[in-house]
Amino acid sequence: MSEQPVFDVFVIGGGINGCGIARDAAGRDYSVALAEMNDFASGTSSGATKLIHGGLRYLEHYEFRLVREALMEREVLWQMAPHVIWPLRFVLPYQKGGVRPAWLIRLGLFLYDHLGGRKLLPATRTLDLRRDPAGKPLKPNFSKAFEYSDGWVDDARMVVLNARDAQAKGARILSRARVVSARRDGGEWLITTESQRSGEKEVHRARMVVNAAGPWVDQVLAGAMGRNNVHNVRLVQGSHIVVRKKFSDPRAYFFQNPDNRIIFAIPYEGEFTLIGTTDQDYHGDPKDVRISAGEIDYLCGAASEYFKEPVRPEDIVWSYSAVRPLYDDGASKAQEATRDYVLKLEGQAGEAQLLNVFGGKLTTYRRLAEHALEKIAGVLGPKGSAWTAGSHLPGGRFAVAEASVLVADIMKSWPFLTRDHAERLVRSYGTDAKIMLAEVHTFEDLGRHFGGTLYEVELRWLVQKEWAVTAEDVLWRRTKQGLFFTPEEAKELDAHLEAIALT
Ligand SMILES: Cc1cc2nc3c(=O)[nH]c(=O)nc-3n(C[C@H](O)[C@H](O)[C@H](O)COP(=O)(O)OP(=O)(O)OC[C@H]3O[C@@H](n4cnc5c(N)ncnc54)[C@H](O)[C@@H]3O)c2cc1C
Repeated sequence: MSEQPVFDVFVIGGGINGCGIARDAAGRDYSVALAEMNDFASGTSSGATKLIHGGLRYLEHYEFRLVREALMEREVLWQMAPHVIWPLRFVLPYQKGGVRPAWLIRLGLFLYDHLGGRKLLPATRTLDLRRDPAGKPLKPNFSKAFEYSDGWVDDARMVVLNARDAQAKGARILSRARVVSARRDGGEWLITTESQRSGEKEVHRARMVVNAAGPWVDQVLAGAMGRNNVHNVRLVQGSHIVVRKKFSDPRAYFFQNPDNRIIFAIPYEGEFTLIGTTDQDYHGDPKDVRISAGEIDYLCGAASEYFKEPVRPEDIVWSYSAVRPLYDDGASKAQEATRDYVLKLEGQAGEAQLLNVFGGKLTTYRRLAEHALEKIAGVLGPKGSAWTAGSHLPGGRFAVAEASVLVADIMKSWPFLTRDHAERLVRSYGTDAKIMLAEVHTFEDLGRHFGGTLYEVELRWLVQKEWAVTAEDVLWRRTKQGLFFTPEEAKELDAHLEAIALT
């Protein structure tokens, strides 16, 4: 066991909230460490619907603070990371006698357009589905729709880009290092991490701990900190299914279901449609969450109410599930529990302080981090000022309208790349794609081909710069190439990565 210097802030959890807080704090010159027990974004932050959205539905629950903050964040985040975030138009079909009257939806969308922050995204409009191509894949009884704006994000990549930027700003970033104990020792914390690869333990000292363990936030309090009767979050499971493309329109669909819930059907990774989500209380360990047969039936049934061509369980090529860590406000239904976040400071005067993070959304992570930094500054004394609005995540320093220019640029310099490949590299790495390809002069220089459009040069980048260790990290979080790999190719990639780890 070795001893480390005293960090100002030690963050537990490498999801979007932990990585966002670590980045913000490091950028203000606090000394920061972050420990993630598994891979970055392996918890809830890779299992989302992946929308940068205000949350139209939350207006029904009068969550105006949250919706306004989230709406304002859409364009801030888009400009911060125009490679992994882009605008998406949503088609919301409605019928006479449907779940909500048209006037109510119109009112909600009016508020959505005007609550704040919309400068670049186009406004809501109405559609005649008998003429508009968006009506083509839908049943003929849907003749009218509203079309509105929100954004799309590659959630897992946004997390790892925050971790990379935190590291670039001086933070010590530990992956596959589980916090097994965190105890106060006078005015400091003593935190023990255990490597999930070697079993080695390391002790760290810090003036403050941030518990950003998402759905595990109560487990950290109970397990690593030895608390009794902890119950701060309500765990709500949400699952998604991916099927072969159900429509070729670039817009997404917002479907209302008779049970008052909604689901989205979203164009996904070029050849697929993503359908989700469900919303049901969950009582197990978050790491064990899996889609149930009931959820599959629910999602297939709900989408089939709208699409002419039904969605059947046998059409599913992939599914994923995650657990929302919602702050427990005692709501009786899972879908009514608040989606807002709550930050709670704990500790007596003179004791080292703990900041617990409950709830939150991908969309509001940057603001959550700013609020966390206000609390941290209150305890440790202020350093720097808010800086992340107007900043860029790694690879994201280009104008929002210029992703296609970057693709054209890359295709000109590396003419042997296919358009799909160049687009994927730009959508994943932005301007960093050029750095990744700097030594590539011929097709052969891309190195070994593993499957899909994954070559050795990209794999090396993921291992050396983005903490990728297993095939799952590479195929389902750093990229979604898993959708294009055969099981044999995935196995070979895993064997290759294991061999690298041993050298
Ligand atoms: C189905 C679903 C759909 C969603 N859709 C959207 C959406 O479209 N838009 C949106 O804005 N938000 C969405 N969200 C919400 C968003 O995904 C979450 O709020 C967010 O990802 C939570 O991030 P987090 O960092 O708090 O938690 P997590 O991502 O779970 O991160 C916590 C991390 O802590 C680590 N950890 C736990 N214990 C320890 C320990 N002892 N030591 C070290 N590390 C530890 C875990 O491994 C984990 O990686 C959705 C959520 C779900 C479930």
